[in-house]
Amino acid sequence: MHNKTIKELSALLHAKQISSTELTRHYLGRIEASGHNAFLHVDQELSLAQAAAADARFADGTAGPLTGVPIAHKDIFVTRGWRTTAGSKMLANYVSPFDATVVERFNSAGMVTLGKVNLDEFAMGSSNENSAFAPVHNPWDAKAVPGGSSGGSAAAIAARLAPAATATDTGGSIRQPAAFCGVTGIKPTYGRVSRFGMIAFASSLDQGGPIAQTAEDCALLLNDMVGHDVRDSTSLTPEQGNLQEDFTRELNQPLTGLRIGVPSEYFGEGLAADVEQAVRAALEQFVKLGATLVDISLPKTALSIPTYYIIAPAEASSNLSRFDGVRYGHRASEYKDLQDMYKKTRAEGFGREVQRRIMVGTYVLCHGYYDAYYVQAQKIRRLIADDFQAAFADKCDVIMGPVAPTVAWDLGDKANDPVANYLADIYTLSTSLAGLPGMSIPCGFGQGKDGDMRNAKRPVGLQIIGNYFSEAKLLNVAHQYQLATDWHQRAPENI
Ligand code: GLN
Repeated sequence: MHNKTIKELSALLHAKQISSTELTRHYLGRIEASGHNAFLHVDQELSLAQAAAADARFADGTAGPLTGVPIAHKDIFVTRGWRTTAGSKMLANYVSPFDATVVERFNSAGMVTLGKVNLDEFAMGSSNENSAFAPVHNPWDAKAVPGGSSGGSAAAIAARLAPAATATDTGGSIRQPAAFCGVTGIKPTYGRVSRFGMIAFASSLDQGGPIAQTAEDCALLLNDMVGHDVRDSTSLTPEQGNLQEDFTRELNQPLTGLRIGVPSEYFGEGLAADVEQAVRAALEQFVKLGATLVDISLPKTALSIPTYYIIAPAEASSNLSRFDGVRYGHRASEYKDLQDMYKKTRAEGFGREVQRRIMVGTYVLCHGYYDAYYVQAQKIRRLIADDFQAAFADKCDVIMGPVAPTVAWDLGDKANDPVANYLADIYTLSTSLAGLPGMSIPCGFGQGKDGDMRNAKRPVGLQIIGNYFSEAKLLNVAHQYQLATDWHQRAPENI
């Protein structure tokens, strides 16, 4: 049952071969028995009440394509009922009085919330090790990181603890964990999915999206996720191109004539041989499907790391100033005066990486350094976006390459080395800085590094990047690949 896709589960529900209550119980049972630390908060009663409501919709004929299908929400989307911690001690006991727009939309579609899943604190990280509630273990190999920050979302799909999950991507947090866990994820064009109720990390970059087993499932989820929201001032309107479209509509287009841009900068120094081999094999598969490969260059790729690690911390330092012990969450129990209360609260509530980013962000925004760092980074951000537009203008329809330079690393390997973590984001950051949509689909496994065959079990992701609003096209490109290959159907043993 749990190996089925959303599409298959929906068909069973509509044919009344299974009820949402049975399905929900099945997944809740799996979550209870699992040892990956993917779920942070579960409330069986609440989930089963939603399932009963979904079953009533099947009885009265008002069920839609996602009704009754269970979903896990990244614990950065606020939910009524389930706690919302953002992976931080600061919000350890926080219960939101309202639902995020994304959650509200899936609730109205009749989806059943299974619970909230683990993440790096405030979505800052690439390995899930920055969670205040211990990291998730990669279902393919418990010694490996699941990726981050949406490690819980990706691991929940890989371990078949949920058929669908929400996630967010600021600099790669949907694509990289999807790659490390061998599942499918898409980050839409910036501004297509509402950020209302999505706890802010870096507002000009944060974007919600789905993770599931297949591109087809991601298309079904995007149908309900995308859309203008008056409560988010950066949400794009229909006039700006954010149409309520059917993302499944292009799913059966042949790929004949598709021009795939292959950026030389994504295949240079630092890319592990096993990842390169799997990605190149995937590119060959696309050639068999009728596509042509075009060499392109995205010359500013290397600058995406310093640019992102100025802009994202700058925005984070501003967004996180609200956690002051007065308005939300944790407050230190002993303090001398107001200043002391702020200091102690923030020192106790935030983990090391979050504190580091607040300090870097405050530094680059302060008078005297603002022009040298922040303004400069914004200028380079534009040049990075221009690189992509030059490629899409006349050379290619989509861009492909690896999601990350290596397969998932061991838990602990980079835990005390922030720069090593940042460098691993090299292939995902520029897409985020440009606001473009990007996907990750499974395309193979590592081959064993230096004779270390543990890596042979760790998945490799193929990244597919498109121009603004090209989600339907990306999903079809991924879907055609998934019709021809079975990497997305592989599941870890012993789950
Ligand atoms: N790894 C990146 C970071 O640490 C991206 C995180 C994200 O996309 N939320 O900021």
